[in-house]
Amino acid sequence: MALRCAGLFLSKELSASSQIAKQFRQLHISTACAGSNFLKDSPNTALDKSILERYRKLETPANRVQATYLWIDGTGEHIRLKDRVLDKIPTSVNDLPKWQYDGSSTYQAAGENSDTILAPRAIYRDPFKPGQNDIIVMCDTYNADGKPTKSNKRAACQAAIEKADAEEPWFGIEQEYTLLDVDGRPFGWPANGYPAPQGPYYCGVGADRVYARDLVEAHAIACLYAGIDFAGTNAEVMPAQWEYQVGPSLGMKAADDLWVSRYILHRIAEEYGVVVTLDPKPMKGQWNGAGAHTNFSTKAMRANGGMKAIEAAIEKLSKQQERHIRAYDPKEGKDNQRRLLGALETSSIDKFSWGVANRGVSVRIPRGVADAGKGYFEDRRPSSNCDPYAVCDALIRTCLLNE
Ligand code: ADP
Ligand code: MN
Ligand code: MN
Ligand code: MN
Repeated sequence: MALRCAGLFLSKELSASSQIAKQFRQLHISTACAGSNFLKDSPNTALDKSILERYRKLETPANRVQATYLWIDGTGEHIRLKDRVLDKIPTSVNDLPKWQYDGSSTYQAAGENSDTILAPRAIYRDPFKPGQNDIIVMCDTYNADGKPTKSNKRAACQAAIEKADAEEPWFGIEQEYTLLDVDGRPFGWPANGYPAPQGPYYCGVGADRVYARDLVEAHAIACLYAGIDFAGTNAEVMPAQWEYQVGPSLGMKAADDLWVSRYILHRIAEEYGVVVTLDPKPMKGQWNGAGAHTNFSTKAMRANGGMKAIEAAIEKLSKQQERHIRAYDPKEGKDNQRRLLGALETSSIDKFSWGVANRGVSVRIPRGVADAGKGYFEDRRPSSNCDPYAVCDALIRTCLLNE
């Protein structure tokens, strides 16, 4: 602890850009010795949060609903949003108007033909807005000619899910992520060094083991409020790394839920002045990367004797390693190249493998599933910044549609 504080003090001194910031930091470092001092570096945390609370108490017209339209930008991994006010309470996405935005500012269109279309696909309650009827709307995006944009992986996924409807595909996704300080270092890490090696942090408790649990718990509550099939959380192997799970959910819901839960996570982190990164390997070396393990089952796999269907799916997956690696990160394998090293609980990127209770493989069958002879399997390859629409799409097409 003493060492950690010394590191923090030193580098913060060096990086201080203004006299005021310097004074502020010194004041804090002399009175306390926690990573949360870094928060003061974020302009967001310096804002007085009680001012907004005053306006939130004002009564707004009952028939006017605030809607936050979310979409995925041209990077395939970052979320954009804009808000609009509706004049009636929608009961389904069919009540929601399409909308457009400037695709030339999101890497999705050229300036001279920039209007890109937002099609509402799923509705969630909004934990950030004051009204009971305020909503978040997950959208997918279309070019002016009506075709899905390049980063719209949802449209193809929807088609696959419809074809595989009778098999009742369920997905459950484990989202790992890393908290960063505004200086880009993992949150709570000494700025000039490293924490003690991995071991004590996974599912840990204690101020020297986990950082920002408040944020994690606020996120869980907000997701449940929103209507996400939120399934749990845990501290991860690398300090400042966390995980939450969604599902199991039928068809598209897990992927929609994952995108909206990511948005909620970024928003809450914004309030705390902490940055969330979904980079699959934020720290090189002997530090675990971050994935989005995707758990998959069908009606047949969940029924008695379902192990046969699980093994048949794994057999098909073993022949499509390339397709899946391309689908499992937004850079078609380049991000996962840094993570899938065949070490630190990952498999090698160019070889398919599977096993029971083994965390060094591409596909793991959980021990409980092997014992019951039915259930689901876990694909460990998707990167933390994957597009779950692309992941679910690939799983359905390989395992169920034999494409
Ligand atoms: P681990 O960390 O051991 O891999 P977790 O408990 O973090 O496991 O995650 C298990 C995931 O499996 C959850 O996301 C859950 O939704 C999902 N899951 C559980 N049962 C099924 C099922 N029948 N089909 C698909 N996913 C499932
Ligand atoms: Mn997990
Ligand atoms: Mn994990
Ligand atoms: Mn897992």
